[in-house]
Amino acid sequence: MTTIWNDLLNLFDPRLCQLCKKTLLPEERELCLHCLCDLPRTYYHRRDDHPLLPIFAGISSFRHVTAFLFYREGGCVQSLIHSFKYRGNKQLAERLGRMAALELKADGFFHDVDVCVPVPLHRRKQRTRGYNQAEWIARGLAEVYHYPVDTQTLVRAVDTDTQTHKSAYERRMNVAEAFRLSRPEQFADKHVLLVDDVLTTGATLLSCIDCLMRIPRISISVFTLAFTM
Ligand SMILES: [Zn+2]
Repeated sequence: MTTIWNDLLNLFDPRLCQLCKKTLLPEERELCLHCLCDLPRTYYHRRDDHPLLPIFAGISSFRHVTAFLFYREGGCVQSLIHSFKYRGNKQLAERLGRMAALELKADGFFHDVDVCVPVPLHRRKQRTRGYNQAEWIARGLAEVYHYPVDTQTLVRAVDTDTQTHKSAYERRMNVAEAFRLSRPEQFADKHVLLVDDVLTTGATLLSCIDCLMRIPRISISVFTLAFTM
C-alpha cells in the first residue's frame, strides 16, 4: 500500500536526486545511491597526518578533526552546500550529517564525544535564513551517535561580514571575539564536538575554540562537512 502511495506521489511531485536529478527510489532521500557513493570523501579520519591537523596544532584541549568531503569550486559538494545554505534545504544538511556519522562511527571515530555544538550564526542571520545549517548537520550526526546538540551555550555575539574573499589574516581578525559563552559550566569536563559546514582557513572554528578554552578541563574536536582544497 505504501509503495503504491509513494508511486502516486512521485507521479505528481517526483522526488529528484539533488545532483543528477533522476527520480529517487522510495528508500532514497535527497541523493540517489549512485551520487551518494560518488561523493568525494577525504577519509582524513583514517590518517595520522592530513592538512587539517596543522590548523589546530598546539591547542592543548584539542582532540580530533576531520572533514567528510572535498569542496571544489563548481563541484558537486558546492552545489549541495548551496542547496542547504541558500535554498532552504535543511533536510539535505541533516542527511549529509547522518551519512558522515554512519561512516565515522563505523571506524570508531568521535566515539568519546559528550555533546555536539554547531557553530552558531548571529541571531539576525539565523532569522533571515530561518535556520542554522550547521545545526542541521549536527542533528544528523547526533541522530547516529545519540549525542545531545547544544545550541544555547556558545553564542555569536557579533554579526560578522562574510568570510568569502578575505585573506586568512582578515578572516581571523573578522571573527576574533565574535563568540561568547552563556552557561560555561555546562561544558566543564566535557568533550565538545564543534560542527560547521565548510572549513577554509579554520578562522571561525579557531575563534570558537578560543572562547571554549576558558572552560575548565574541556576537550574539543571538530567536524566539518567539507574542506576547501
Ligand atoms: Zn543522483
